[in-house]
Amino acid sequence: MLLARALLDAAALVAPVDCAGCGAPDRALCPACAAQLAPTPRTALLDVAPDHPPLPIVAGTAYAGAARAALLALKEEGRTELARPLRAPLLAALELAYALPLAEGAVLVPVPGSRAALGRRGFQPVELLARRAGLAVARALELAPEPRDGRAVVQKQRSLAERTSLRSEPRVTRDLQGRRVVLLDDVVTSGATLRAAARALARAGAAVVGGAAIAATPRRHGESAIRWHLVGALSARQGDEPGTPQRAS
Ligand SMILES: [Zn+2]
Repeated sequence: MLLARALLDAAALVAPVDCAGCGAPDRALCPACAAQLAPTPRTALLDVAPDHPPLPIVAGTAYAGAARAALLALKEEGRTELARPLRAPLLAALELAYALPLAEGAVLVPVPGSRAALGRRGFQPVELLARRAGLAVARALELAPEPRDGRAVVQKQRSLAERTSLRSEPRVTRDLQGRRVVLLDDVVTSGATLRAAARALARAGAAVVGGAAIAATPRRHGESAIRWHLVGALSARQGDEPGTPQRAS
């Protein structure tokens, strides 16, 4: 009896995982859901600032179905084993981002999650995904803590746009002056996070030449005005690529 009990306890400790995509038992991601993570890269030009050239960005797949479920399970349930199947769309996006003429030798900088999210999760999802894919990243951005009451009073004198911009812009924590940078994010929705990161780095003297993400919210969700082009369709549009990014003086 004792042995049976011990075995049951042990079985409970080794909690069986269900497929993050469909709930099928005993697999982190079942073959059918894993197949949904096959890269379907797409690219777009993101408006960063009036004095910044449009930023070429690439996403490895659509933020939908199994890709969305796997990213959510990794970030919100700590299911870090899902970094492995998410590697394919991540690497597909980076391959294209680094194929940009200006991206040669660029430093890969992950976009940080909020401090609150870091405390909750205990890890930075984008950094973890990059590390598990064998990529070297440079931690160079840090999100400021949420403003407290004292600052909120001061901020009343600022315009809404200023407040929004200040709150969303990360702090640059590493000297990247004169360096080329490719930004890395997990999901692109409105592009606001990448835009804020690019602005902060450009102000710090870096040349942000591209952005890559595992997934992008499909435009039909109405959350994003970004005009994504599947890469097959893009190759005929190379003439639309922007010229040499120039930093504002
Ligand atoms: Zn599944």
